[in-house]
Amino acid sequence: MKRIQQIFDPPSGHWVGDGFPVRSLFTYDDQAQQLSPFLLLDYAGPADFSPSKHRRGVGEHPHRGFETVTIVYEGEVEHRDSTGAGGRIGPGDVQWMTAGAGIVHEEFHSQQFARAGGRLHMVQLWVNLPARHKMTPPTYQTLLDRDIPRIELPEGAGSVRVIAGEYQGRRGPAHTFTPMDVWDLRLVGGRELRVSFPAGRTVALVVLNGAIGIDAGQAGTEKAGAEQVAAEAQLVQFDREAGEVVLRAHGNASALLLSGEPLNEPIVGYGPFVMNTRGEIMQAIEDFNAGRFGQMAPRDLTAAPTT
Ligand code: MN
Repeated sequence: MKRIQQIFDPPSGHWVGDGFPVRSLFTYDDQAQQLSPFLLLDYAGPADFSPSKHRRGVGEHPHRGFETVTIVYEGEVEHRDSTGAGGRIGPGDVQWMTAGAGIVHEEFHSQQFARAGGRLHMVQLWVNLPARHKMTPPTYQTLLDRDIPRIELPEGAGSVRVIAGEYQGRRGPAHTFTPMDVWDLRLVGGRELRVSFPAGRTVALVVLNGAIGIDAGQAGTEKAGAEQVAAEAQLVQFDREAGEVVLRAHGNASALLLSGEPLNEPIVGYGPFVMNTRGEIMQAIEDFNAGRFGQMAPRDLTAAPTT
């Protein structure tokens, strides 16, 4: 059985722009190597917004050297970037953006969501790129809810949505640069999910709603059957031994299960840039300031009269 390395409490929240009240459940400042290839996870909301003509969000900003994965549970967000790509995602949808060599983008509540108001509940996960792919051209994958396989667990225990990687032979739609699983779990109160992982892999559980008990004892020891409970917005980091994770929902719960092969490369991050060396960070700043990340099209270009 895999052992729990540590359970982390959520920090206090902060705002990203004026649209996203988040708690950073982990960041590359503290846990970059332990959770590699995952760099950061911002848990946004759940938060209620009143109807508004003003669209809340975060304006143009750059990224280089990694990927941002936005998973929407409630609400609707829109994205536009310097490659000319853009899109709107709602409940169940995922946007997997590869910043690679450099991108400038903006992230806002959708116009419709802003006007109607309502609950925003989403996650943004940052996934590192291996050194050899950090300067890959920026791209963008929209993964719609209907394209994400949902595997029902036996005995009505809940479901596993495979965003990336594989569960029981079903592959998720995300293209990833290194092997990883991003599973979106729904667990029914009192039921169990058992999953085995090979040695050497990073495995972490992020509890989004409810509480989940995790078997913490080694079989055959006095601690066998002992359980530790992780609550809403807590992060559970497991050891890298081969073994089984046993999750038991205390009441209905939802969570993200992240696992992946660690990159085992130096991580040097500075705000929206995550590279391998300090020199590469300096280069990123210089390239961004020189406009080498490209430019966003003017916001009203498509609406402008053609005369
Ligand atoms: Mn961003």
